Amino acid sequence: MGIFDTVQGKFFCPFCGTKLEDFQTKDLDPLLNVYKFTKKAHGSYPSVEIHTFCDKCKSGISLNVARQDLTLIKGAVSHEL
Ligand SMILES: [Zn+2]
Repeated sequence: MGIFDTVQGKFFCPFCGTKLEDFQTKDLDPLLNVYKFTKKAHGSYPSVEIHTFCDKCKSGISLNVARQDLTLIKGAVSHEL
């Protein structure tokens, strides 16, 4: 396995507050696509779990974001739910 998509966005580590910008997810295709997170969804949508690792506090971070907030910026296929 080891195949994943990348999600770029601006989030803060829930433990130490460090800015985190690159996440990985296996909830989408996954086809090594790159998605940009822009907050725009309102209400309840299917969510995507994204993961990263905070180098400052050495914590694994998992967040849930709305699928509608992710825009494909690099890759061949846009996965629509
Ligand atoms: Zn941290």
